[in-house]
Amino acid sequence: MTFSDDEIERYARHLVLAEVGGPGQQRLKAARVGLIGLGGVGAPAALYLAAAGVGTLRLIDDDTVALSNLQRQIAFDAADIGRPKVEAGADALSALNPHVRIEPVAERLTGANAARLIEGCDVVIDGTDDFGTRFAVNSACVKACIPLVTGALGRWNGQVGVFVGRPCYRCLVPAAPPDAETCARVGVIGALAGVVGSMAALEAVKLITGAGQPLTGRLLIYDGLAGTARTVTVAADPDCPDCVAA
Ligand SMILES: [Zn+2]
Repeated sequence: MTFSDDEIERYARHLVLAEVGGPGQQRLKAARVGLIGLGGVGAPAALYLAAAGVGTLRLIDDDTVALSNLQRQIAFDAADIGRPKVEAGADALSALNPHVRIEPVAERLTGANAARLIEGCDVVIDGTDDFGTRFAVNSACVKACIPLVTGALGRWNGQVGVFVGRPCYRCLVPAAPPDAETCARVGVIGALAGVVGSMAALEAVKLITGAGQPLTGRLLIYDGLAGTARTVTVAADPDCPDCVAA
């Protein structure tokens, strides 16, 4: 796999990094990342992954762009309102980097189709705020041995974690909390989506290139109001329904 002059100039700041360089950029170009949900986490993550030169981005979302999305989902603009997110997102990402191949999938991920939708992905990023979807993504990733980057937002707080086999996301969240909060109900500060989406993209880049230490088996918790972050280690659940037998 070779790079055109345009690509060499485009990725110049990666190519001089010891941890990326030519081999890392080749790995990025050869990679396919699946984004579950083009929302607060997925939209900025997709922009940075496209800019980084990830060869193929599979966008999985059945929603359309709403005016209230634009406060934080910066892949979209006012002219996109009412369009399917995967179509508007594909246009934005292609405009940013025409070298990236986009696979738009306008389907809602469920337990029934999760394995098919993530098939062939090297990394999956889940930014959805629905626990049924999150559990379906986790189960499918564990079964297919695909690293999962998970990002979540609420109010002023964000979380990013990486799960590869065991422990898995379900070890962290065994069941949907009865008082599950959504951004629609409790609110979210817009710039926090950029923080968490960018961190999710960064973890995906680390997993693909082999740079540094991904947050594997760990959860980074960011408190935007306090301006502090801490990282906790996720313990493997001996009764986890998803990864015990994996
Ligand atoms: Zn587990």
